[in-house]
Amino acid sequence: MSGPRVIRQARIVDGADPVDLLVAEGRIAAIAPRIDSDAPALEARGGRLIRGFADSHLHLDKACLLERAANPAGTLPGAIAAVSAAKRDFTKADVYARGAQVLETAIAQGTNLIRTQVEIDPIVGLAGFHAVRQLKADFAWALELQICVFPQEGLLNLPGTEALLRDALNDGADLLGGCPYTDSDPIGHIARVFDMAREFGVDLDLHLDFDLDTSWRHLDAVIRQTEAHGMGGRVTVGHVTKLSMLPPEPLARTITAMRDAGVALTVLPATDLFMTGRDRDHAVPRGVAPAHLFDRAGVCCTVATNNVLNPFTPYGDLSLPRMANLFANVAQLGAAEDLSRSFRMVTEAPRRLLGRDPVIAPGTVADLVLLPSESDAMAVAEIARPLWGMKAGRLSFERPAERLFPPGQ
Ligand SMILES: [Zn+2]
Repeated sequence: MSGPRVIRQARIVDGADPVDLLVAEGRIAAIAPRIDSDAPALEARGGRLIRGFADSHLHLDKACLLERAANPAGTLPGAIAAVSAAKRDFTKADVYARGAQVLETAIAQGTNLIRTQVEIDPIVGLAGFHAVRQLKADFAWALELQICVFPQEGLLNLPGTEALLRDALNDGADLLGGCPYTDSDPIGHIARVFDMAREFGVDLDLHLDFDLDTSWRHLDAVIRQTEAHGMGGRVTVGHVTKLSMLPPEPLARTITAMRDAGVALTVLPATDLFMTGRDRDHAVPRGVAPAHLFDRAGVCCTVATNNVLNPFTPYGDLSLPRMANLFANVAQLGAAEDLSRSFRMVTEAPRRLLGRDPVIAPGTVADLVLLPSESDAMAVAEIARPLWGMKAGRLSFERPAERLFPPGQ
């Protein structure tokens, strides 16, 4: 436990004047323009105070694999094959060690809520799941992990996978994923995961339409199933890079269909940029779904990390402001309004998607992160680096601002 603290002059609403916050017993006790208190002070100096960044799509189990899994062609099948081979040697301890390394970095980047996608199949069994479940418990002091188990290698084509998924869902997994493009029966795969989600009463988060061929797609089957099962607001599709190739009219129809069905969109710009269009030798398409257009129309949209230092994405420092900036850059967004929108795709939107309240108000739990930026738009433009964060009122990290030492001072 830690005693009361006062946070001085923080902006808790984009564009509003700074306020003081009193934090006591893990919660926000008061918010006012000026609070008289002898409690130790944290000076925010007009910086932006948020509930924290939320990463709605992050693979901990296959992170930090560059030395073990090579994908020289940089293709999606190449990455899946490389990880599939490396996965044979995964143990609980190995996944735990790599995942812990990623979580420590994410905490220092101001992320305190993560949905992690965990592969379940007869190759790795439940080793990855057991490791991530342990990480969830051990890192609860700094962040909340939501565990999404999914069949990366396919479901109907790989007997034994469903039984393992069921074991995980009975044993602490929070939701179910899908990966129809690796299945021999993609439409059957989609129908099966919807049936299972209904049976277990959990949300769905699918890897979907991860290529640039617009002559076919699985999105319509997902929309139909979402409506048939009454699961609006509980289904997310990730990647959907095909959307980046649609002309305005079919794109507008798709936006309307996703909004009406209540299907959310997650864009994974680092991976989507790295992997798509590998068959082109010039004028390579960007392959990033135009989430800002979906967001403007009322579709829940998030931007997330996906992979870190592995054959799918050989980069990653877990900074979500960097992902928002990358998305804005690729989508050619420059107006403050659109940069703010990109910021919300790594803060408010994923927090709501994961069922958590993004609002800072008296009585709410003091999960807080301070950014040096005066506005959401500038946090994206400058790829803001958080200065400190707290979980339930207890400081969980700090990264003091850099200092320069010019001569004569
Ligand atoms: Zn993924």
